[in-house]
Amino acid sequence: MKKLGIERRRFPYPYRAMLALCSDLDSTVDWEQYWTIASFLNGVEDTPMGLGLDLEVGNTLYFDQTPGRFCYWGTGALEREYLREMIRGGLVDCIHSFGILAETRAAARRSLDDLAEHGCRLEVWIDHSKSVTNFGSLLDGGQGDNISHAAYHADLTIPFGVHYVCRGRATSIIGQDVPPSLRGVWTARHPAVSARALAKEAAKQLLGCLGHRKYALHGYNVLMRPTMLRDGSHVYEFMRCNPHWSGVGGGANAVDIGESLSPRVLNRLVRRQGFCIFYTHLSRLAEPGPAPFRPATVAAFRRLAEAYQEGQILVTTTRRLLGYARSRRELLWTARLLATNLIRIDVQKAPSAPPIQPALAPSDLEGLTFYVPAGREVQLFVEGRQRSDVRLNPPDHTGRPSVSLPWPRLRLPDLGPGKLAGHRLARPERLIASD
Ligand SMILES: [Zn+2]
Repeated sequence: MKKLGIERRRFPYPYRAMLALCSDLDSTVDWEQYWTIASFLNGVEDTPMGLGLDLEVGNTLYFDQTPGRFCYWGTGALEREYLREMIRGGLVDCIHSFGILAETRAAARRSLDDLAEHGCRLEVWIDHSKSVTNFGSLLDGGQGDNISHAAYHADLTIPFGVHYVCRGRATSIIGQDVPPSLRGVWTARHPAVSARALAKEAAKQLLGCLGHRKYALHGYNVLMRPTMLRDGSHVYEFMRCNPHWSGVGGGANAVDIGESLSPRVLNRLVRRQGFCIFYTHLSRLAEPGPAPFRPATVAAFRRLAEAYQEGQILVTTTRRLLGYARSRRELLWTARLLATNLIRIDVQKAPSAPPIQPALAPSDLEGLTFYVPAGREVQLFVEGRQRSDVRLNPPDHTGRPSVSLPWPRLRLPDLGPGKLAGHRLARPERLIASD
């Protein structure tokens, strides 16, 4: 919609696509591995894989997992505090079910109570494998929203703040909230396997268009949709993407990042102006030792960092991407001319229907950008209050100037003197004694 030459820009200025690296923590062995990956992706210091990339990347967390796997209750007290600091800072942003060993409502309550007690909130849920606390019922035996099951917890977890849910839906299609297109999946290097991946994707798309609820997101390639869990809770369900030639699951690991985030994929995402919640497991097939990623994986992440620095792809956390995408659905705006040279834009939240709680947060408006006519002064009001932090942006690739609200960067928390650099000292065996 254009009013007085004003139009909402699809992405925060100056970006042309948006991507969240959404890694399930499966296979993560300990805090050291979890932290090493975060410090490489998010940090700016030297790491065993080279200088940190200074990206904004979130992470997932489960709470009760089999021994030998990193989880909230399986690690030391100090590391739990580190995790909570990362949750409060937005860089751990997804619950990856309560974990395989969390089989009851009491286990879910224990974890949620602990988070709440420490001022932590997580708003994104992603089903994990065969966890009984999952919300997806068709594929993975989840009972989290089955009111008559011992693992029922939706009435605790949804009021706790979770309102974005992924029930295992994933696609090969590069970029969501753009028309479905199967291009870019098939490759002549692996004709048979990639043709099978393509056929699977086409089948999901067709089923979605025919009204099959499981594939509702695939049908029209939408990132998210309002839906109802079995107990009547309203949430947004979302879909992740991994365009690896072998299919969505085949390349969802550390080694295959070079192919699933190839220059061709990044360019196509930008060309299509897509949203992408990139599905992977960054600890799966990671190298043992201090440097989990092979050179090809490191190179792929460096390319992604370049695309971010060049203003092509806004790399952010899953939670922030979902909030921004939600704002595209739920924000209403009007514009009027106050004087010859002065335009007023009014932005208001429209209630989502059905009501999904919590409502759109003020942080979901971060990065909000409007194209404006050149040479005009623009005032931006949100819910009737004038914003004083509006920035005027020079013309972008379309040649049009814009105004935007700031997009503050999330950064790794300062975990205290000596604790960040000396994280290897913080081994679980040392910490349990002081627990
Ligand atoms: Zn998992």
